[in-house]
Amino acid sequence: MNGIRLILLAVAVAIAWRLFKNWRARRAVDSPDRPKQTRDQRRDRQGTGSGQKGIDTIRCDHCGTHVPVGRELRAHGRTWCSRECRDADREKSDRD
Ligand SMILES: [Zn+2]
Repeated sequence: MNGIRLILLAVAVAIAWRLFKNWRARRAVDSPDRPKQTRDQRRDRQGTGSGQKGIDTIRCDHCGTHVPVGRELRAHGRTWCSRECRDADREKSDRD
């Protein structure tokens, strides 16, 4: 009878061990590595990439080129697209 008991005990332990391992594996899959929502992270780039409708531009006082606001050079109430235009404009105004 002892032999059968031992076998039954071994089987019970084996089953319990299996269940435990299963439960642990499931838990490991469920909690720490949740599937990241990469699909929804695609950004809609409509309206931002194509064209420059939303960008404010400012006109260079020297050459007339329109430059995005923030890239222009300003001094003494005048606006330029680049240093070259600023210097050229200054030289010109100095002559006048
Ligand atoms: Zn210019």
